[in-house]
Amino acid sequence: MPTPWSPSSWKGKPVAQDVEYPDQGELSKVLSKLSTLPPLVTPSEIERLRQQISLVQRNEAFLLHAGDCAESFDACTHENITSKIGLILSFSLILIWGARKPVIRIGRIAGQYAKPRSSNYERVGDKQILSFRGDNVNGLDPSDRTPDPQRLLNAYFHSTTTLNYVRSLLTSGFASLHHPRDWSLVHVRSPALRQEFEAIVEGLSDALDFSRTIGVEAGQSTYEHGGGKDVLGEIDFYTSHEGLMLPYEETLTRELPIPSANQSSSETSKAHYNTGAHFLWVGDRTRQLDGAHVEYFRGIRNPIGIKVGPTMGVDEVVRVLDVVNPDKELGRVTLITRYGAKKIEEHLPGHIRTVQASGHPVAWICDPMHGNTQTSSSGLKTRHFNNIISELTACLRIHTECGSRLGGVSLEFTGELSEDGFSVTECLGGSMELKEEELGLRYQSFCDPRLNFEQSLDIAFLMSNHFKK
Ligand code: PEP
Ligand code: MN
Repeated sequence: MPTPWSPSSWKGKPVAQDVEYPDQGELSKVLSKLSTLPPLVTPSEIERLRQQISLVQRNEAFLLHAGDCAESFDACTHENITSKIGLILSFSLILIWGARKPVIRIGRIAGQYAKPRSSNYERVGDKQILSFRGDNVNGLDPSDRTPDPQRLLNAYFHSTTTLNYVRSLLTSGFASLHHPRDWSLVHVRSPALRQEFEAIVEGLSDALDFSRTIGVEAGQSTYEHGGGKDVLGEIDFYTSHEGLMLPYEETLTRELPIPSANQSSSETSKAHYNTGAHFLWVGDRTRQLDGAHVEYFRGIRNPIGIKVGPTMGVDEVVRVLDVVNPDKELGRVTLITRYGAKKIEEHLPGHIRTVQASGHPVAWICDPMHGNTQTSSSGLKTRHFNNIISELTACLRIHTECGSRLGGVSLEFTGELSEDGFSVTECLGGSMELKEEELGLRYQSFCDPRLNFEQSLDIAFLMSNHFKK
């Protein structure tokens, strides 16, 4: 029998990546304030995402999970949010075109502030200082590394501001196929990429015009698949972050009625929803079976992701699934694999086979970013496009060989531009052939390196062409 769960039962377990606040009184005040603030998202939106992830599990939809490694308070601007959403929309459009399936879009946005670290300390000059753990914990500036509880409140308000702007963008027609050129495509300098993208937009517009002419409304099929109203205006768009800071996650966990599909049902059951994001994932460093994070995640009703890296044992993955999804509910769990191009062959087939044998329904997502980080000769954290593609193509192939299916992709990318209007230069290669000596030109990430606009579209076309075959 599992022990009883509550939003705070995680406190009885070891907390990996724990943050020590010097002022516990201040922390308590902030947490009680947070627990009175309104939810960012609602149970009906969360249920709709669960339903859509169950479509991914049945191979009827594809999942795109993407955004920054970490958001920052300073980067919370109109331009940055617009270009992030623009890139997610462009990417998904290319996928829809190739895969001929609805694409479920989940942004790493509106709350992705906390970062796990491999070490508590880092060396700056001859000093040892606390590591930077994300804007909701401490500051990037070496003089600002003491964890400050006020940053949790600040994270909440930056998340609400971001989400508010995303919602208004999407309800004002930004996602409409009549405006794809607003999605920052102007910044794509390669004529070939632009041409390819414009051909897709034209094809889709024609298809939509045709549907209208014969009396089928655009979006109708999405409604049928999703079973409800649009979540964020004209298209579905969901938010996510790593559920790392459990004190924060606990304050936004609220017991609320499960919206009933059958309105006439007189009995309303309740569940605990994390109302800070539609989707939360547990990181590769915090997924210990007996740890606090898995304990917290097992009790929330939201769809969840579990990062699966090369240190996850073959049977361990099923033991985690048994804990977080004992009833094997559809739409609940997404496994986000991130082994690295050199290790995927060794680990993925075993994980797929044990999950298949267990009968657990999961959506398999490939994160080709986190196992492929390297340091450039000048000391910058980077990733090579070829390694990203190599893990992704191996992942597609291995799923097919094992009689399984890749349901989606999880990427760190950005449509953000530097002050001089160029794409960022954080990852090597791609059709723009970004070289090591160019990395320093516009390196803006304060966390992991992100694919820029052109490199992201390269991946979108590669996947789209794969699915078209
Ligand atoms: C991340 O997604 O930013 C991350 C830290 O991933 P992982 O837990 O897989 O290392
Ligand atoms: Mn990252």
